[in-house]
This record gives sequence, structure tokens and C-alpha cells, in this order.
Amino acid sequence: MKLPLLFILFAGAYLKLNAQHIYSGNKYPLTDFRRPLDITPPALAGSFGELRANHFHSGIDFRTNQRQGYPVYAIADGYISRLRVQNSGFGLALYINHPNGYTSVYGHLQRFNPKIAREVKALQYQKKSYEIDEFPNALLIPVHKGEIIAYSGNTGSSGGPHLHFEIRDTKNEATINPQFFGIDIPDDIPPVIYAIYSYRLGHRPFNEFTPKQLHQVTGSAGNYRLSGPALQLSGETGFGIVTTDRHNGASGLNGVYSIELQLDGTPVCISALERFQFENSKAINAHIDYPAWLNTKRSIQKSFVDPGNPLGIYSNLVNNGRMLFNDGKLHELKYIVTDAKGNKSSLSFQVQAGADDAPLPAAGSSGQPAFSYATANEYNTEDIRVIIPKGSLYDDLSFVYKKLPNSAAGAYSGIHQVHNKLTPLHNGFQLWIRADAVPEKYREKALIVNTNRVSQGGAYEDGYIKTSPRNFGSFFIALDTIAPSVSPLNISEGKRMAGLSKMSFRISDNLSGIKSFNGYIDGRWVLMEFDTKTAGLWHTFDENTGPGKHRLELVVTDMKDNTRNYSITFYR
Ligand SMILES: [Zn+2]
Repeated sequence: MKLPLLFILFAGAYLKLNAQHIYSGNKYPLTDFRRPLDITPPALAGSFGELRANHFHSGIDFRTNQRQGYPVYAIADGYISRLRVQNSGFGLALYINHPNGYTSVYGHLQRFNPKIAREVKALQYQKKSYEIDEFPNALLIPVHKGEIIAYSGNTGSSGGPHLHFEIRDTKNEATINPQFFGIDIPDDIPPVIYAIYSYRLGHRPFNEFTPKQLHQVTGSAGNYRLSGPALQLSGETGFGIVTTDRHNGASGLNGVYSIELQLDGTPVCISALERFQFENSKAINAHIDYPAWLNTKRSIQKSFVDPGNPLGIYSNLVNNGRMLFNDGKLHELKYIVTDAKGNKSSLSFQVQAGADDAPLPAAGSSGQPAFSYATANEYNTEDIRVIIPKGSLYDDLSFVYKKLPNSAAGAYSGIHQVHNKLTPLHNGFQLWIRADAVPEKYREKALIVNTNRVSQGGAYEDGYIKTSPRNFGSFFIALDTIAPSVSPLNISEGKRMAGLSKMSFRISDNLSGIKSFNGYIDGRWVLMEFDTKTAGLWHTFDENTGPGKHRLELVVTDMKDNTRNYSITFYR
């Protein structure tokens, strides 16, 4: 009686285990962790590794029914290893180290449990700072599996209530797909394939000049094909795919897990989002057709890999996914796309190869400096200095620089066009612009902005303003001499605040951005909380502000040390 049942159970576990380990040689504990929320059935608003602006999503986003305040549970025994409060980013966040070698992370929390909240508030008063990033030892806050550690929220750079959840390898902080740990998200819907693109690479670096063709796809429910006949392609070619995933009970689009491209039955490029290092996340801009994403917001995932792309998500590469069509023959190609549950979609198509393998002419005009992705690169004129550190370029670059006159109000230099924004950079670059036009008394107020007047930061150094922009673009020197502004939202001079739990403000800066804010009631530092996305600043009254007359002072400083002093009298 028992044997068949056991057999069925084992067979089920085996199949599930296999499905969760596609394209992975790693084994993860499948039964150590419970889910961090009790909402059933669990549904994702965001999947692990899904494509976001300048990063891969580093965890999974659990839906919380558009509401905040659901209990968040420790997924296993362990201890709070990191307490973090940020104006943006994860907002209120907790990290738990577990004895099995993994760390769980919980972000955008509304509030902590009372014990942790007391600990955090004590730290904030001790450091006189709303933002904290503390690494307590194992004895301070031990937690047990299933203990309520916090409540779900929408703090930090969150676009709506949800729980951001991660599992990391404690040793090296690599973040790993939580669905590999037996945290089950119901999903039997295969990924959707919208389109593919062919790129005529012609033995050149991929960039915005690479000729490409869109190929429309038809089909559904896992089976897709191209609308037209065999593709006629010649020379060195790469492919890209537009694909997303859907989950049961979730209306939104999520990311896929793996993309495999086969040529005549052999894989030439597989990408799989099992795990990645945070320092490599920005290389999403080398994984996708970045110029297409910037220009049209369409995410085309390339199945060929730039030589400076540091991501460890690729396997089975043949010539980095670049294939040669010069034999005049008919070739069979196949895309296989899966989600993290192993649901699979495929697209088969044919390529009729030409006979031509002539390299493409070099992009851009001749005489430009040729920068190698494998080294640091430097460019100097009498006005500027540019250093691109090793590891920042994903591929070789014909560097373009131009200086234009600048008639913009408040500009203290010409406009320096440092290549263009369509070429992604991994670690940004260093930029010096000569500051001859900046009056000596304003040197400390000078900074570099792009032509959208977005501050790039900057400080005076030996006749230049120096900063480190993240992206190429067009830049000039501007000044920030204006202090931040403070707008009261629920308080006015002499107001009785006895019935209110907090006092609220909005603060903003015109150019360089807010560096610090400090509040004092009757001369004593008090905790002001800040939310970057709403520019809201508030203080929650506590027992230290008793009945009677009080004086609040607010000191708000920007990155160029312009300071606003604001004060107001109120009654409790
Ligand atoms: Zn998230």
C-alpha cells in the first residue's frame, strides 16, 4: 500500500527539483526556508533577474494586495546581521544570517518589530542620523524561523506596496534566485516571445551603428515561429530576443530565467539568471541592446556577448554567440526560453546563409582615438581631461569628443561632448573641466551638470572642476549658491500640535541635491525621517516633547554646503 504512494511523492520531488535546477550545477537547500509572507497564493510583482534600468532585479517582489502592514517572517533561524535605513534604495531593510551559509534580505519595510525598532531608534539618536547601516553581532538580535521581524511597506525607491526579498550567499554576497530554495511560486505559464532581431556584426564591436533587422514572431502557449520565410543573412551575425514571463494570478510582466540559442542543434549562447554579483549588475547594459533601450525603451536581450561584459550568467558560448553565415547553406536555428519554474517556450527558424564575409567598414569617421576595452584610456585637450578606468568599457570604442560654445544661463564653461550616452559604461569615468571662467570666490560652489542640468557633482582641483559621471554625455560647469527650500505641510507659527502625531515638511534643492538635514526641538537633536521619492521630511512626536511651548529648528544643507536654517514655535 505504501510503496506506490512513496514512489509518487519521490517522483514529484525529483521532477520539481530538476525543473528548479535547469542550467545550474549548484545545489541549494530546498527545505530550510519558509516564505517571508503568509499571503496565499504567493504572487510576484517582480521576478529575480528581471530587466530594470541599469540593473538586474536582485530579488523577488512579493505582491501585498496594494496594501502595507502584512507581517514579515524570518524564513529560518538566524540573527539580524544588518540593519539598514535609507532615504531611497530599500528604505527600511533587514538582513538575517542563517547557519546554512545564506543571508535573507527584506526591503521596503513599513516598520520593524518593536524590539528591532527600539534598537534602530537608539542607533539613529546615537549617530544623529536617519540613515543608518549597522552590522550587529550574532548575539544582539537572534531570530527564530517564523518570528515576525517587520511589516511590509513601500519605503525607499518603491513604486507601490510590496515586499522585496533576496537570498544571498553569505560568504561573497552573490544574490541567488530565491525560487531555487524551495520557495514555491505557482506558475505554469510559459514565457512569451515577441520578436527577434538579427545584427550584422561584421567583425566589429556592437554599437548604435550595428545594422539590425526586426523579425516578427507569431504563435502562443510555448510554440512560436517567424512570420516570414527563411532569413537571408550574410557574414558575422548575432541575434537578440524580446521575451517576458507571466505568472499565475499576476497581471504584470516578469523576467524570464534562461535564454538558449542553438545553431544547427548546438547551443551557441545560453544566459541563465541563477545568481549574480552586485558589482556586475550594471552590465545589464551590455546584456541588452542598450542603444535600442535608450531610444525606444524596448529590451532586446542579446545572444552574443561583448568581450568586456563581466556577467557570469553565460554558458556554452561558441565564438561569444557570433555566428558566421558564409557557406551558402540553409541553417536551423532555435531559441529556447524558460522561466524559473521550468516552463518553456521555443522558436525555430531557418537562415539561408550568403557567401559574403566582408568585414563592415569601421563605424564613425576616421582619425578618432581607438580605445580598447581591455585597458584604461585617457584623453586630454587644453580644456578637459577624461580617464576611463579599465573595466568600464564593454567593447572597443572609436571615441568622439567635441567642444561647443555655451550660451546657457549660469554656464561657466563651454559644452563638452564626451562621446555620447548610447555607449554604456560599467564604472563611469573621471572628468576634469578647466574652470578659468569660474570667479575665485565661487570655486567651492562650482559643479558639473549635463545638458539636462542634472548635477554630476564635482569639486575644484588645481584649476579644474573634477567629477566622475556614470555615463558619457554633454557637460558644462554651473554654480550652486542657493540653499535648499523648506515648506511646512501641517505646521505654522504658534500652532497647537497636541492632537497631531507628527509634523511634516517638504524639502528640496535647486541643483546639487540635499546632503544633510537635522532637526532640533528646544536645542535637542530629534529624529527627522526622510523619503526621497516624495521629498517628505517628518518628525514623529514622542514622550520627550511634553505639553507646552516648543521651538523647532531645521538645518538643511546641500552638496555645495549652502545651508537653510528654518525655525518655528509650536505648542503641545
Ligand atoms: Zn524588488
